[in-house]
Amino acid sequence: MAPALLELQNYQVAFSAGQESYPALREISFAVRDREALGIVGESGCGKSLTALSVMGLLPKGAAVSGGEARLNGKILNGLTPEDWRSVRGKQVAMIFQDPMTALNPLIPVGRQIAEAASTHLPVSKREAKNLALDMMRKVGLSRTEHLYREYPHQLSGGMRQRIMIAMAMICKPQLLIADEPTTALDVTIQAQILDLLREMKENAGAAMMFISHDLGVIREICDRVIVMYAGYIVEEAPVKELLDRPLHPYTIGLLKSIPDIGQRGAPLYTIPGRVPSLAERKGGCPFAGRCAHAEPECATRLPALERRAAHHRVRCHLYADKEASR
Ligand code: SF4
Repeated sequence: MAPALLELQNYQVAFSAGQESYPALREISFAVRDREALGIVGESGCGKSLTALSVMGLLPKGAAVSGGEARLNGKILNGLTPEDWRSVRGKQVAMIFQDPMTALNPLIPVGRQIAEAASTHLPVSKREAKNLALDMMRKVGLSRTEHLYREYPHQLSGGMRQRIMIAMAMICKPQLLIADEPTTALDVTIQAQILDLLREMKENAGAAMMFISHDLGVIREICDRVIVMYAGYIVEEAPVKELLDRPLHPYTIGLLKSIPDIGQRGAPLYTIPGRVPSLAERKGGCPFAGRCAHAEPECATRLPALERRAAHHRVRCHLYADKEASR
């Protein structure tokens, strides 16, 4: 097995407000290996984006790492200075955000933003940075690049802006590319083009990818392995085919049941009852207990461990605890 490029061990992040601390990521342990595409799924508020932002050293105000360790290329990320982070971002890890309008600077032409990403992280002149930017714009499928280079974000379509974001992320050839819901804000046809582009960029650049989505259909398209997160915990992890064909955790099963089936046209759509608890509402026990049809009394008080049920399949649920793996 390839060595881990990114490794999180019992990683915890908490928000603080006054004297109170609210854990948002708990007991997070996983690895991303060279050239691997790891998917992270779950509803909004489950900790997917917070995990990504933490790996980028971009935790929001009020949030801090409260335990465990994150390593990139063996280097511990906890406690890096802003200067240290500048040497990690760009060349080692880069991120594509969900909404390019909030990630791109509205006052700077898009080409210059890509060139600045190159000149910040690579030993290149301004002229070389511009040529690299133009070349990368062509690689992400943009045409009339000399003209586009001078355009501002609001002058481009949503799909073009997302291609600019991908060019910015890829210009320094990062070892790990984090894509946080990169197609959610796009039309279905543009979504397919952007997914194809991401797959192509990953193959050509030989990068690893962390792909965050609430859409298991998209995850099936692009990922090798999947982590399912719920209320700040990893509740299941497996190779993508295994997870989609033989899900174990009731939450994963609910997510899969929620995918609309064209063969069931006219039938009511399934939704998981209830909602993800807010940080203040989270108590001990299984985080999914309030919404789970299989909950037993112990589920409300005892947190299940994330246990291995098959070679590469882990699940956090009392239904499977202390039973022989059946496969
Ligand atoms: Fe449901 Fe209990 Fe399993 Fe949690 S531990 S998912 S509440 S059965």
